[in-house]
Amino acid sequence: MDWIEKIPGIAMPLEGAVLLSFFTAAFLTSMFEKEERPAYLLLLFGFTLSLPFLLPFFAGFSYPQWISLTLVCIPILCLLVLFFPFRGRIDYSMQNPADRFDERDTMFSRRTLVPGSKLFNEYYARRPGNKPLDNKFRKLPGLLKAGTKYYDPIIFAAANSIFDRVIQELHPRVEGEVASPDSSGGTASEHSDILLKMAVDWGAHSAGIAELQDYHVYSHGGRGSRYGQEIKVDHKYALALTVEMDYDMMRAAPAAPTVLESANQYLQSGMIGVQLAEFIRSLGYPARAHIDGDYHVICSLVARDAGLGEIGRMGLLMTPRLGPRCRIAVVTTDLPLVASPPRPQATTIDFCRRCEKCALVCPSQSIQFGPEQGSEAPIQTDIPHQTDILHKTNTLHETEALPGSGVIIGGNEKIKRWKIDDAGCFAYWCLAGTDCGRCMIVCPYAHPDNWFHRFIRFGIRNNAIFRRLAIPMDDLFYGRKPKQRDFR
Ligand code: SF4
Ligand code: SF4
Repeated sequence: MDWIEKIPGIAMPLEGAVLLSFFTAAFLTSMFEKEERPAYLLLLFGFTLSLPFLLPFFAGFSYPQWISLTLVCIPILCLLVLFFPFRGRIDYSMQNPADRFDERDTMFSRRTLVPGSKLFNEYYARRPGNKPLDNKFRKLPGLLKAGTKYYDPIIFAAANSIFDRVIQELHPRVEGEVASPDSSGGTASEHSDILLKMAVDWGAHSAGIAELQDYHVYSHGGRGSRYGQEIKVDHKYALALTVEMDYDMMRAAPAAPTVLESANQYLQSGMIGVQLAEFIRSLGYPARAHIDGDYHVICSLVARDAGLGEIGRMGLLMTPRLGPRCRIAVVTTDLPLVASPPRPQATTIDFCRRCEKCALVCPSQSIQFGPEQGSEAPIQTDIPHQTDILHKTNTLHETEALPGSGVIIGGNEKIKRWKIDDAGCFAYWCLAGTDCGRCMIVCPYAHPDNWFHRFIRFGIRNNAIFRRLAIPMDDLFYGRKPKQRDFR
């Protein structure tokens, strides 16, 4: 039939042009990201894949008919296989801790205990299993201290000034006087819309609302004057917001720029949180901001329940557009609000089950390999240190905290989750002098939030075959163990 013979003459140059344009655009995007290796690989892919389609057009010859028709069909088949909506069967449901977590068990609290003091003795009498773990970090120079591996007097001073001075100035404002009752009215839906919009206008990358649950709130305070005090769950709603960590600064992880960027974004998220809390109080409703150094809630769990992401292998919130490359603040309030729809990210969990890149690069071997604990399958790990700690002490469920990220799901062995050796992680911080962040930046979800990576993330969410291919492709393009970069 005549029309069949005409198809290759039209479709082949068209498909070749689309392929070349896509890969050229991806090449330029990667160059803009200063990712030379993926950029050149994308260019190579673009030329190699489009060549068979464009060559006859430019060289003025024709393939035999069957070759032409096969070539025309290949891209269409690939599109169907990789982009047809097919998430695959994923065995996953959101896991909620049954018990409240004690802030005194976080590394941030434990690091403040002075050996020999009453609080020190009281804590380790209750948690003797944590003492040998904590003794390790006590022998090291410490976070943001001279003598550490990545000590940089200027950058450490800048980070310290933000943590110790500027953020401290925000603490008196996390709570405050409530103005006279709201006279302006407004429905829960209107309040929610305006608060979420303001959060984004004031610099948040994403924001969502959850109904406050018991397991969001620490059972006891672990820092400053609230140490040991019971914490009440006294608000009905929680607004969680994320801010983006700078990609270039984080690529230097675990070197000094990473800790400065942490300070920057704790400050940024803290300022937005405090501003929102002040705004709500001005409407006549109580509100409390939960910001760096002054949390009553576990931010990552609130953010997950507010529809902002999922808790991944490294124990951090994995957002759809930035992965773990963000910081979180929360505002709790009694202002009537509408909870955002929960968005369980089963595909993220499925990806994490196969990826394990963070576990592989972690310098302290603190991230678990294999399936979530609590599942039927045995834990697989190549890391003697990790298994040793998990099996010997069996206490990490009480102490899950990644400093800088808030606390990970804690306190209930019946739930399925990946466990982090928080003491091992923190000991590395005290050796490095920074809050490391290596797991955060190597994560395939942490690439910049541009059209190219959104396209990849869409494929990961949408199609199980794409998801499985994305892991080896990320290894090929960015390395199984991506290199640390200098920040300039
Ligand atoms: S690096 Fe891989 S395994 Fe780790 S959190 Fe990211 S996607 Fe999950
Ligand atoms: S912050 Fe560093 S030491 Fe801690 S878990 Fe991540 S990679 Fe490991």
